[in-house]
Amino acid sequence: MRAVVTRPGAGRAWLADIPRPTIQRHDEVLVQMLRVGVCGTDRHVIARAISATRGLPDGDDYLVLGHEAVGRVVEVGPMVSSVGVGDLVVPTVRRGCDECAACAVGQADLCFTGNVRERGIVGLHGFLTELIVEQQDHLIRVPEELAEVAPLVESLCTPEKALRRIGNARAHLPMNGAVPGGVARALVTGSGPIAILAVLALRLRGVATWMLARRPATSAAARVAETCGATYVCLSDVDLEAPQASIGAFDAIIEATGAAELAVAMLSALAPNGVLDLVGGSQERKAVPVHASVLAAMMVRNLTLLGSVNANSADWQAAVADLGDMRRQFPGAVEAIITDVLSMRDVDVAFERTPDRIKVVIVVDGGA
Ligand SMILES: [Zn+2]
Ligand SMILES: [Zn+2]
Repeated sequence: MRAVVTRPGAGRAWLADIPRPTIQRHDEVLVQMLRVGVCGTDRHVIARAISATRGLPDGDDYLVLGHEAVGRVVEVGPMVSSVGVGDLVVPTVRRGCDECAACAVGQADLCFTGNVRERGIVGLHGFLTELIVEQQDHLIRVPEELAEVAPLVESLCTPEKALRRIGNARAHLPMNGAVPGGVARALVTGSGPIAILAVLALRLRGVATWMLARRPATSAAARVAETCGATYVCLSDVDLEAPQASIGAFDAIIEATGAAELAVAMLSALAPNGVLDLVGGSQERKAVPVHASVLAAMMVRNLTLLGSVNANSADWQAAVADLGDMRRQFPGAVEAIITDVLSMRDVDVAFERTPDRIKVVIVVDGGA
């Protein structure tokens, strides 16, 4: 069967013919893949150096790409009870280390050792192929109405976990609201799929939301933000030395650009008791200056700086529920995130970054 694969050092992805998987354990499920989203993580995997052999599954000299997927169950093992043949499912991505307390209770997103594997990213084949086999515990059922947009569930997990973490960080405050911790005013930095979905998730909860990014106010990302009632601000219109002067102060900020300078600047845009959550990051070896007064303000205003990665099963369930609610409450907004629908034969251009692209989704051969 066909698959989109890569190999450390190759610097590209290509179509390959790989063996068809079969159910080996009683709790496994055979899933026909339908649609798979592409993101910056795939570009990092493709760009991996030849020395990165840890990224390859045991015994194989290639890695099937793809971790943002939806498929349909075609066969189930005898012990499978949570999904049935014909169900639409989204597979989760991270698999635990079998060594730590977090992974032991199914919270691999909090892994203490870092020895996790992730399908399509590190150590396990991904979903950009015709069929996959997966244990039932790693499959999330999704309603039929989400078939076209369900590759976004994986992206939405990140803001779902961020909102949960921000709520936890503010749980001690004497406030209530749709977002735990009573967040009334929030900012999302960035204009990629995770940033847009974070804006939609905040608007769904009635939070007054701003989006700050480099793209012009006429961009598709800015339009989606505004159709759901958020305010879009161009980065060029904000003085990063004094951001509050132009955009005010925020109870919560989700930093989704990964730009360290912006993350540091946004600490000065937090309201008292505010929380800044980093959901992006850069591996660049460069120093970013932080004024001592910014750290002093963190103390004086009870601020929290946190980072969050990946998601647990509660976040995946929340993402499925919220994606449906977003489609009902903000018609067209979720669909507008998927700017390019390609086929597996478009492998040479599918992973390219172009200015107008937000999310590329690949329709898998044989899937509908
Ligand atoms: Zn991704
Ligand atoms: Zn672990």
